[in-house]
Amino acid sequence: MYRKSFYVTTPVYYVNDVPHIGHSYTTIAADVLTRYHKLCGQDTFFLTGTDEHGTKIQQMAEKKNKSPKEFCDEVAEKFKVAWRNLNIKYDNFIRTTNPRHEDAVKEVLQKLYDDGYIYKGKYEALYCVGCEQFKMKGDLVGGRCPDHKTEPEKRSEECYLFKLSSFQDRLYKLIKSDKFKIMPKERKNEVLSFIENEGLQDVSISRDKAKVYWGIPLPFDTSHTTYVWVDAFLNYLTGLGWPQDKNNFEKFWPPTVQLMAKDILRVHATIWVSILMALGIELPQMYFIHGYFTVNGQKMSKSLGNVIDPVALSEKYGADVIRYFMLSEFPFGTDGDFSIKRLEETYNSDLANDFGNLLHRTIPMMDKYCDGVVPEPKKEDLIDEDLKKIAQAVVDSLAGLYEELKFRDILADIWRLVRRTNKYIDEAAPWAFFKEGNDERLSTVMYNILESIRIITILTYPFMPETSQKIWEQLGITESLVSQRIPEDVGWGGLKVGTKIKKGEPLFPRIDLNKNNA
Ligand SMILES: [Zn+2]
Repeated sequence: MYRKSFYVTTPVYYVNDVPHIGHSYTTIAADVLTRYHKLCGQDTFFLTGTDEHGTKIQQMAEKKNKSPKEFCDEVAEKFKVAWRNLNIKYDNFIRTTNPRHEDAVKEVLQKLYDDGYIYKGKYEALYCVGCEQFKMKGDLVGGRCPDHKTEPEKRSEECYLFKLSSFQDRLYKLIKSDKFKIMPKERKNEVLSFIENEGLQDVSISRDKAKVYWGIPLPFDTSHTTYVWVDAFLNYLTGLGWPQDKNNFEKFWPPTVQLMAKDILRVHATIWVSILMALGIELPQMYFIHGYFTVNGQKMSKSLGNVIDPVALSEKYGADVIRYFMLSEFPFGTDGDFSIKRLEETYNSDLANDFGNLLHRTIPMMDKYCDGVVPEPKKEDLIDEDLKKIAQAVVDSLAGLYEELKFRDILADIWRLVRRTNKYIDEAAPWAFFKEGNDERLSTVMYNILESIRIITILTYPFMPETSQKIWEQLGITESLVSQRIPEDVGWGGLKVGTKIKKGEPLFPRIDLNKNNA
């Protein structure tokens, strides 16, 4: 379905952790989508940010002798630095401690309370006395608190609950019919079978303020603070400036796609969507759930010391290399493995050999054979149909692949054109025509090579904005790269005869794999 606007969100990342490649994966994907939709001429909005309330943050700050706000400020800044390093261009970085966000959360809770969706009840769960805290099953190791090695006891606490159960049937039908779409399909089925088997229970949306003070007080009972999840969901609305900025909200709501990893799918698919229904706000068009990264075959964890820092990585290899690698290594939506070895192999084969080499061969030939000026292709029948056809096929398949977030297939398609163009140079052998003084054939071949590079440069831009910009400058095209439009400007023959090529620096020097890079 075509929309004039495009709105993508990442989750707000919880500040109990510094940015790692898991966060980077989601955020890079959102950035690629946004840049692509811009090239398609759509108005886009890309929202990311940090989730900053709750017990964990309160405790971490206490341990470091900092106020929670100070602690959050520091971690939020680390996320911003990581995104700068990875060349992420978001439209808003929302922090859930932003006063406007907090006011909006209170407003929503008051409305839900007034409309009868929130009521006072009891929350019963496992409680660790040592931690003075309720524990989720996932927090425990072998049924015990990992910090105190004790079995938590069942306890109940007075709290406010949201009537999630009353949305069960509507929600089930919406998901089943794809009116509210969850992708990939296995993830959709997972949510459906959860609703079938377990059913939806009302959920606690508050905590006792005496215990969890680092949260937004309930407007109708200030002895309670808002449970961090509920608060966090609302960022997708407040990040657009809702409720004050009606224009922006009307322009971009609902989200075209909300990206997330599978661990937070269930709460998003049930609680968040039900809150929207209770508020009478249109639902997101699609959730897309991506997989997890393991590192060298192992789960990433602080204790194993294998957490990969995206900032260090981008400083060593460059943002574009990380962006390309993460989205080409395995399909978005399945689990995969990350290793420096694979990254370097991919760099050498796809980026140094294929892509970089294409340019490094072409530019000197242009200088030598054509005085650096794009020549006129002399005869129509000499145009290489094969190259032209592949370019057209890649462009034609783009929209469908982007709609299903098949980044890996998109890159594979573009690289088919890259490799074919390299092969075309070998086959057409322009150096032979130069020797013969066959101007007609020489001009045609050189034009075809450059035209293919021009199209590739536009297509790779969402993934590798910095590299594409550099190539664009070498091509000497005066219109800006970001003002190019898909599909209008990626049809064959768009390169203007007479354009002056500019030689630039080599793009992807090979990495010596024999060096020890551990
Ligand atoms: Zn404990």
